[in-house]
Amino acid sequence: MKKEFIFLGPPACGKGTQTGSLSEYLNLPHIDTGSLLRAEIKNETEAGKEAKSYISKGQLVPVELVTKIIKNRLSQNDCEKGYILDGFPRSEEQAKELTKMNAEIDNGIETKFMAIYFDIDSNLLLERIVNRRSCPVCGTIYNLQSKPPKVAGHCDKDGAELIQRKDDTKEVAQSRFETYNRETAPLIEYYDKQGVLKTINANGSIKEVWERLIEVIND
Ligand code: AMP
Repeated sequence: MKKEFIFLGPPACGKGTQTGSLSEYLNLPHIDTGSLLRAEIKNETEAGKEAKSYISKGQLVPVELVTKIIKNRLSQNDCEKGYILDGFPRSEEQAKELTKMNAEIDNGIETKFMAIYFDIDSNLLLERIVNRRSCPVCGTIYNLQSKPPKVAGHCDKDGAELIQRKDDTKEVAQSRFETYNRETAPLIEYYDKQGVLKTINANGSIKEVWERLIEVIND
């Protein structure tokens, strides 16, 4: 059976770290919308040029743009057995688009769809964001306080120099939280009503959250 997982939760709730590990655990591709968009910007594509101004303001990029990128990605062969989708959908309109593209791509095969919500105490998040660093090569995420690299400023896996995302500043982060509350948080009820929502307590250490996640996945 094809396994399809999507993840909900505010910026810096720990989705990226956990979904990266889950991808290895389940041997399914980790599709992170934010990283796909940042790659478009880096490669100076038309989509990247359009997305840039929205991302720098902490707003959602237009639905047509992101839907096209995701549909392309979910149609690739490595998604045949399923996927771990991180950062999409982020609005009810996107959720409807996902249902449509799944129906088209899956074309009648048996699937299991699960939406996992990371429920977290939001007053911790701004601090997490400003301390976040990532590896531009392999995407590993660090936190200067809770998960520092072994050698300051460099990735443990490949030694690349760590970077801070341009939208990980206090000002842009505030706007990302507002966007999340307005556009994305309503999806919690949306998926709950469909009977596909699982909520995990996302407070605690990376290991504690991982154990809760695995319990839900294997449920
Ligand atoms: P993230 O890496 O998930 O925090 O995403 C970074 C930024 O990319 C967001 O603040 C949005 O501007 C944009 N973005 C990511 N995913 C989406 C999406 N599904 N729809 C629209 N914009 C998105």
